[in-house]
Amino acid sequence: FRSRTSHAAIMARSLQIPAIVGCNDITKKVQNGRRVIVDGFEGSAIIEPSTNDVKQYQKIADKFMNVRQQWKKMINQPSVTADGQEYKISANIGSSVDISSAIENGADGVGLFRTEFLYMKSDHLPTEEEQLNAYRRAVEQLNGKRLVVRTLDIGGDKPLQFMPLPKEMNPFLGYRAIRIALDRPEMFRTQLRALLRASEFGKINIMFPMITTLEELQAAKKIYYEEQQKLAVDHPGIGRDVHLGIMIEVPLAALNAERLAAEVDFFSIGTNDLIQYCFAADRGNDSVSYLYQPLNPTFLKLIKHIIDAGHTHDTTVAMCGEMAGDRYALPLLIGMGLDVYSMSASSILRTRSMMKQLDSKKCQELYQQAVTTCDSMTGVKKLVQDWLVTN
Ligand code: PEP
Ligand code: MG
Repeated sequence: FRSRTSHAAIMARSLQIPAIVGCNDITKKVQNGRRVIVDGFEGSAIIEPSTNDVKQYQKIADKFMNVRQQWKKMINQPSVTADGQEYKISANIGSSVDISSAIENGADGVGLFRTEFLYMKSDHLPTEEEQLNAYRRAVEQLNGKRLVVRTLDIGGDKPLQFMPLPKEMNPFLGYRAIRIALDRPEMFRTQLRALLRASEFGKINIMFPMITTLEELQAAKKIYYEEQQKLAVDHPGIGRDVHLGIMIEVPLAALNAERLAAEVDFFSIGTNDLIQYCFAADRGNDSVSYLYQPLNPTFLKLIKHIIDAGHTHDTTVAMCGEMAGDRYALPLLIGMGLDVYSMSASSILRTRSMMKQLDSKKCQELYQQAVTTCDSMTGVKKLVQDWLVTN
């Protein structure tokens, strides 16, 4: 694993496998069959631990298991703060198989279905029927809760077996996500049709990844409405309950959020990409991982700008990047007025139980203090850590 927001790391988190990133040459130092302690809390590994180390870590693991038991009590509870403000905490999933974990962890819905895995594991372009089955299965299991599906987000670090993409110097700045969808509209249309048809079996929201300009969004919406109208001939009213949204993960879209908000029902802030593009630091490159700074005060102001811009048009603002499940970011995000928190299923109950301890007014003050008195991510982190001790 090379960084905390690489897809391998995200998958490990959702499978609840303790993982650490950036261990570089550890495989040269550890031989097969050796014992290693992986400390996913602190981000360290102990090769050939002593009996004492093992005892100490056994205690830490037991304590964590107990805390987890406590969190389980939150499964059927609403996601509310101490002062009664209600939010939604949803799950990020990579396939319909992950839905069971979302449900077991009491998710208020699915905030991000990364559909590219459906395509990545297939040796052919998934047909409309195959996709319909996958989306239908997912939304039916959710039993009335909402499923937010992101249209195909390939390219970057996500290749396809059946459609080799050209090698690029800067794949994250290249041919990916909505750019491919608009360039190969047939593939996009097939997915939209499958999603619209699946929306007859439950509540489905559709969001477009990597929107940069207003024209891209309008082009994507035009294609969507064309498919909706074609399907409506045989299925009157199809898509009437589908909300349309976009990922905000490109800085230009963040800056233009107010205009974009007028066009959509919801935003979902993709901090994994938004951070890599704002800080100009490849999310998969361990040498620049110090620039993964969700708590940087300038970045926090940008997030606040997106939230406020969304709210001027009654656009719901969600976050589905890893920042949404970050314990230090939570009070700041509540303070900024974020509506929906979407994260690995394994983080939901911890977040809900933490939310219950927080007062939204005090969180607003904390956010103000962070952006007016801190100059760095380290400063904000320290401020939040100290604040959490007394609040
Ligand atoms: C993001 O960019 O924050 C995001 C949620 O999408 P992904 O990690 O799949 O790029
Ligand atoms: Mg992204």
